[in-house]
Amino acid sequence: MKILLASSEVYPFSKTGGLADMVGALGVALAEAGHEARIVTPLYRGIREKFPALRKVDWNFDLPFGAEFFSGQLWELDFAPRLKIYFIEQPEFFDRAGIYFEKNISYADNPERYLFFSKCVVHLARYLPWQADLVHGHDWQTGLVPALILQAKRAGWGNAPRTCLTIHNLAYQGVFPKEIFPLTNLDPDFFTPTGAEFFGFINFLKAGIAFADIVTTVSPRYAREITTEEFGCGLDGFLRTHAAKLTGILNGVDYAEWNTEKNSRLFRSYSATRPGGKSFNKQELQRLLALPVAEKIPLFGTISRLAEQKGVDIQLAALEEMLQADIQFCQLGSGSPEFEHGYRELARRHPSKVAVRFGYDETLAHRIEAGCDFFLMPSRFEPCGLNQMYSLRYGTIPIVRATGGLDDSVVDFSESQKKANGIKFFEYSSRALAKAIRKAMAIYQTPALLKEFRKNGMQADFSWKSTVKQYLKAYRK
Ligand code: ADP
Repeated sequence: MKILLASSEVYPFSKTGGLADMVGALGVALAEAGHEARIVTPLYRGIREKFPALRKVDWNFDLPFGAEFFSGQLWELDFAPRLKIYFIEQPEFFDRAGIYFEKNISYADNPERYLFFSKCVVHLARYLPWQADLVHGHDWQTGLVPALILQAKRAGWGNAPRTCLTIHNLAYQGVFPKEIFPLTNLDPDFFTPTGAEFFGFINFLKAGIAFADIVTTVSPRYAREITTEEFGCGLDGFLRTHAAKLTGILNGVDYAEWNTEKNSRLFRSYSATRPGGKSFNKQELQRLLALPVAEKIPLFGTISRLAEQKGVDIQLAALEEMLQADIQFCQLGSGSPEFEHGYRELARRHPSKVAVRFGYDETLAHRIEAGCDFFLMPSRFEPCGLNQMYSLRYGTIPIVRATGGLDDSVVDFSESQKKANGIKFFEYSSRALAKAIRKAMAIYQTPALLKEFRKNGMQADFSWKSTVKQYLKAYRK
């Protein structure tokens, strides 16, 4: 098949979260499975410098944007056999310090930026000599792609590709004032309650759900959850009416990137059969973070965007209680100033037990995954979550709330004594999380059990091979 993937972020070119990892890895996995994949993404600041092999293509976009026209340029990179990446250059929109925001404030013209990007995607799909069978967009930023393709079909595009939309997080829908709609140049009948309209606003993601041929989300449990009021973010009813085209496919892990054996970011390599190096990674991490270097103290860690979704509030409260015990904790992440303040305070009050780092640091992320004994993910909701799967591979036992992809990827002792590789809790409360941390401490003190959990985790397999088969099945449908 020929598949054009479209995403506002793609690892290793740009990344704010799991979306980038997933799209980059899906492209590689499709190509490795013998299909032809191409990915289209914006040319953000710094990409050309980091990837000097990018070539300018003799191709100009000059696309209607309401009553005006907007232009852009095309760049390309042969990234892997059968995998080409296209970059849309539009300096006014994409040559900026941030991807979506700066200093925690979203760019006011995000709707225009990603509408323009979506128009470029459709233009490429239509006019490239390489004709995609299917265009696969991701999240609200490409939500309008299926509608734009349908519109072009109306205008005579005979062999238009089919469309797939993946929802990576329903909490971000791209809802903007209706004045954006005329800039789409779509016919007015796209802006109705069964289409892009959402209580008088335009909702990019809802348009995608309405007009895509298939809709996927990043775990089977999250696919079920989003059709309920609790997780539906106002679209549960709408999703129920489109339930027939909705499936959940658990993200795979890029084990070429996330592995403990050939990884220059780690202090020492280790594996399920040679687990010895893990404790060296722990010591070096403790040293790096200026924590007491002590093998016998269990080290807990988190890497996360500091957002409401990630359960930061119950984590701060549970740690407050659990730091009475002999444990250590480290966190890497950035986001809400209020949560950053909470962690800073925790570190100030417990300087010999808590280390916090703010900002974005790939290398430290690998080192935390490798050096910790336990990884905390107490999310309120979690469409898929990747860090718990990275933790499993790194022999770091995940402690997760049983929601979305966390529930789908971790096995608790109560589910299978033989296969248990993590700890789950259910109630969204600091009490329930503290109890899970106490369980972790008990496991830590029982070496045979600790070894078993780690081994089970390191042997769990979330490789893209099986994930890509599920995408191909969905595409064929
Ligand atoms: P989400 O996409 O909701 O942020 P995921 O768990 O799906 O959560 O993916 C998060 C990805 O981003 C992981 O690869 C994680 O390691 C990475 N990440 C998050 N915050 C940071 C950070 N501060 N530094 C480095 N990597 C980070």
